[in-house]
Amino acid sequence: MTTSAAWRNGLWHAYSDHLAERFGEKVYKVTVSAGFTCPTRDGTRGTNGCSFCDERGSSSFFSAGSASRSIEAQVREGIPKIAERFSAGKFLAYFQSFTNTYGPLNYLREVYDGAINIPNVVGMAIGTRPDCIPGEVLALLNSYGHGGRYVSLELGLQSMRDEALRFYERGHTVAEGLDGVERALRFPNLSVAVHFMFGAPGDTIADAILAARTASRLGVHGVKIHQLMILKDTALARRYAHEPWPLLELDEYNRWAMAFLENLDPRIHVERTHGMSSHPDELVGPAWSAQRFVPMDSLKKMMRENSSHQGKALVQSSCQTLLHSPALI
Ligand code: SF4
Repeated sequence: MTTSAAWRNGLWHAYSDHLAERFGEKVYKVTVSAGFTCPTRDGTRGTNGCSFCDERGSSSFFSAGSASRSIEAQVREGIPKIAERFSAGKFLAYFQSFTNTYGPLNYLREVYDGAINIPNVVGMAIGTRPDCIPGEVLALLNSYGHGGRYVSLELGLQSMRDEALRFYERGHTVAEGLDGVERALRFPNLSVAVHFMFGAPGDTIADAILAARTASRLGVHGVKIHQLMILKDTALARRYAHEPWPLLELDEYNRWAMAFLENLDPRIHVERTHGMSSHPDELVGPAWSAQRFVPMDSLKKMMRENSSHQGKALVQSSCQTLLHSPALI
């Protein structure tokens, strides 16, 4: 059932392979900031942000009428640097930080319009929470996908355990998260990716397997996984200093990641397998999170030694069912 012939690493369906298949060349993200906040920051579901989050301060909307110009300027400024560094010719505008669907519809339209109507920008990727995507926002995003533009919605599910979500102070439940994913998947122009994080107290390898099986059953298009990282000046860092708990060793995390991938439908692309702390001086732990190449290289080694690959654990009958899922593109 594997389609590993199309996977450059022979182990999993990497995001870069997925984008290259779709666009015929590598596509790079240009990160933009759109002035959003989060329901866990503005008092709706909390005021301190999620417990692991190191986004600093609070954002604020651009003044009326300037959002589109501000976003366009950011994309136009970002493209030459990436084009030069990677010889890149196609780009996605990436709304990464904060909750990028959390605002009035008119503001959202202005912001997305600013990102998308630029030469060589083939689409956009929107990071957000699964409890912040009302139907009219999904319809708006879906409308940008007409004409072949790529619209990726990245939804932070984070965990399949409500206890872990409370630990992360996410302000939403597993059921609310799954509801958001299922609603997004009804929009045919959206590529829906879900994020999971492993390493909260009480997490086991079974949680990784459940997450992969759930993503496969739902028929999402992409996934992103990483270890729980504790960063300085977060609620989690303060809690850890007061009452530390065992952090995942790299070998153990890799075993969970391997189990996740083995239980993941091979057509789902994998955007990330490990998190990396871009500012090592702000990392509390696990220490290996500061390493750029070792974590993924050791996962690949482990998978090769175990003749492992994405989808290995899925039985043929399950795959046949999944192959007929209309949600997959
Ligand atoms: S993790 Fe996401 S939703 Fe939570 S505070 Fe940070 S940016 Fe906001």
